[in-house]
Amino acid sequence: DGLDITVDSCIENAKHAKKAFYVPVKRSQEIQLTRMELPICEDEQAIMEAISENSVVVICGETGSGKTTQLPQFLYEAGFGNPESDNPGIIGITQPRRVAAMSMSKRVAQELSLDDQRVSYQIRYDATVSSKTVIKFMTDGVLLRELSGDFLLSKYSAIIIDEAHERSLNTDILIGVISRVLRLRKELSEEDKSKIKPLKIIIMSATLRISDFTQNRRLFDIPPPVINVNARQYPVSIHFNKRTPHTNYVTEAFKKICKIHTRLPRGGILVFMTGQNEISILCKKLRNKFPSDRTHRNRTVIREEPPIDEHNEYIHKGYSDRIVDHEIEELAMGENDQDYLDHHDDFDTNSEDSITEFENDVLDNEYAGPLYVLPLYSLLSTRAQMRVFEPPPEGARLCVVATNIAETSLTIPGVTYVVDCGKVKERRYNASTGVQSYVIDWISKASADQRAGRAGRTGPGHCYRLYSSAVFNDQFQQFTVPEIHRTPIEGVILQMKAMNIDTVSNFPFPTPPDRDQLKKAEKLLRYIGALDENNQITSLGRAMATFPLAPRFSKMLIIGQQHECLPYVIAIVSALSVGDPFIKDYHLDGTDSDDGGDEDELVDYVQTKELNEIQKEIIFKKERRKLMRKKFFDVQKKHSGLDPTSDILKFLNVVGAYEYSGGNEKFCEDNFVRTKAMQEIHKLRGQITKIVQANCQEVDVCIDPKMKPPSAIQLEALRQIIAAGFIDQVAMRKDLVDGMTKTFSSTRGIAYSTMWTNEDVFIHPSSVLYHGKPPDFVVYQELQRTNKVWMKGITIIKPEWLSKLGKSLCVFSKPKELPTPKLKRNDDEMIAYVTPCFGPKSWELPPIKV
Ligand code: ADP
Ligand code: MG
Repeated sequence: DGLDITVDSCIENAKHAKKAFYVPVKRSQEIQLTRMELPICEDEQAIMEAISENSVVVICGETGSGKTTQLPQFLYEAGFGNPESDNPGIIGITQPRRVAAMSMSKRVAQELSLDDQRVSYQIRYDATVSSKTVIKFMTDGVLLRELSGDFLLSKYSAIIIDEAHERSLNTDILIGVISRVLRLRKELSEEDKSKIKPLKIIIMSATLRISDFTQNRRLFDIPPPVINVNARQYPVSIHFNKRTPHTNYVTEAFKKICKIHTRLPRGGILVFMTGQNEISILCKKLRNKFPSDRTHRNRTVIREEPPIDEHNEYIHKGYSDRIVDHEIEELAMGENDQDYLDHHDDFDTNSEDSITEFENDVLDNEYAGPLYVLPLYSLLSTRAQMRVFEPPPEGARLCVVATNIAETSLTIPGVTYVVDCGKVKERRYNASTGVQSYVIDWISKASADQRAGRAGRTGPGHCYRLYSSAVFNDQFQQFTVPEIHRTPIEGVILQMKAMNIDTVSNFPFPTPPDRDQLKKAEKLLRYIGALDENNQITSLGRAMATFPLAPRFSKMLIIGQQHECLPYVIAIVSALSVGDPFIKDYHLDGTDSDDGGDEDELVDYVQTKELNEIQKEIIFKKERRKLMRKKFFDVQKKHSGLDPTSDILKFLNVVGAYEYSGGNEKFCEDNFVRTKAMQEIHKLRGQITKIVQANCQEVDVCIDPKMKPPSAIQLEALRQIIAAGFIDQVAMRKDLVDGMTKTFSSTRGIAYSTMWTNEDVFIHPSSVLYHGKPPDFVVYQELQRTNKVWMKGITIIKPEWLSKLGKSLCVFSKPKELPTPKLKRNDDEMIAYVTPCFGPKSWELPPIKV
């Protein structure tokens, strides 16, 4: 028996040998030598054997071990992508970040001595691919879109999914989709199978935490083999700060870099910051302090602005304009949030001033050689990025100030010291409102270790953590939460439906979102008209999927192209996305009295007490704040002659008024609005305007931030548009539901019924509608629970609009039987009995009576 097996395997081997394909490559000697140093090259044979025997292979290897640059070359040399081989399809490599796709394709082209037509990249608006392409780097978003056209991926012989450990939303979905692709390929008839060539999948990760992929039976029936690349990692000493600075880690980083540079032996420094703004501040300060040109080492010269040399072109105006354009492209594509994050950068924590204070303290006679300071972030031009791979000028020390991008995507050579601020900028979202925000928060322990590891690539290194070990132990999560658990799921599902993935509930997500949450998201998408009753995407849904915004906001933008309302809708959507710009009481005195308690009662209560001056001042401020808020309703009333009808239109008023003030801070102070929020809204308006222009050629939308106040017709149309966006969040006065219409003089204690909860809900005292008569029907922006459930962000709507804007939520009856519109609870759906008013087009707004 033993002999038989040997004979068989010999024949098998012989077959193999016949098939074996080898494509010769001309590499320069220098490249050949640096390649030999890479740990992954030792494992080439094991990797290629695993790939030939399995359809899915997982490769784990420390950052810098050579995964991204070498794997495509191994495949290329083994004949992948060669028309005469058994694997003629092209080699595809996906990256979560645009920049990695571009720079890695350049590097691989260089190593293989091939041109950029053969080793190319493709990102949404830029590509070098051609008919000659053999190796194609792309963002995972690009491959996802290709999948909706060619689900079998028939033009590829191998797909490498890189940076899988980052668990970006697109990567997770891509892995799920590809597992389906493999299954589908297996199920093809023999005849069809013979027509397509085999496809190999390689998943690459920089960490060993891969069980979500390998042990997930829904993904792969047979657990794929895992190859661990033996990293040559030198020891890294970790130095924690004694205390964690509460505010300014940019200053902390500056001090630490000064110390390292003036006192410690040679070796490059890699600094982790969270975004472009911080990086620019820090680079500027470091260049001032340690000019790379020695002859300028004179205090008076240093004090001046550094000359605009090619190294600091990024702070140059012309360049930042270009960045904005890139940013908009990215937003428009709805891909690479990672790249977008770098630019979403207006945070209070770090100011230049405190660095300047410290600078004055640093002794002038401390000698240090020149420091070669380079920024590194996603949307920096490729040319500027490539500089980090070049050796620094003779005698200078390299100091790269980078975002998270240097954690695993790019390996910077020669780093001995890592300075880690411990923070990262992340996208978060509020599940109840669907409002997303960008926050700076602690990284995970796994990320902190990755960052530290960057110091040990070329020799023993040091990592300086700008936080204490107590904070690290107590506040850092073990691993970064996958993006899919941090993102509004209805947006994801809409994207997937747009990709023709219909049943999301059995979709093999590596870590699936909660089932109920999935169901709820589908229901929400049905309610707002993105899906039909069979959960198939509608044409409205497809249009919505093109905007990188919460689906209900996208819907408002699409419907908003009527009555010339679009600029107002853009302003409203921007304000809603950024969050309420009005300063709350707790911003004034540190207590949150804006919790749904009755404000009048509160003021009465405080006034009965003996007050000191400070308390009086606070009350005065609160009163003034109330008056100021009221002002924005009065503005509305003056222009339209109408009583206030919407809290959301109040946002529009404040945005409009802010722009007329020229965007100044005094305006914000006088009117009790947050300057940062107003600036963000301003920025977002510009971006959304450009996206609308890119997506809807026929729409001509004005970019001038100053808007004329809306007319009465437009105000009514805007309320309809808001109603359309929040159509699932209709609330109806309870006495109407019960069929006994009463008259009220106040909103206090008046209960409303809604669709998403069985509990009664109430108008929040901060609402403009609180002091008027209780309206019959409203839509609300969010529910907030304290002692009661409160509606916030309320807009009055007319019931007859419902039949048009929320037709699927309505039950129609003959006008005679039910002359008054009614909403009735049935299951958890609110059903409106309304007089039908059908219009010609479904997205068109109901007629407005003037
Ligand atoms: P991994 O993907 O495992 O993190 P890479 O393949 O990205 O590793 O990097 C392998 C090596 O190639 C690293 O030492 C890195 O510094 C080097 N490298 C990558 N890109 C360039 C480039 N454009 N120029 C010079 N060296 C580079
Ligand atoms: Mg890599």
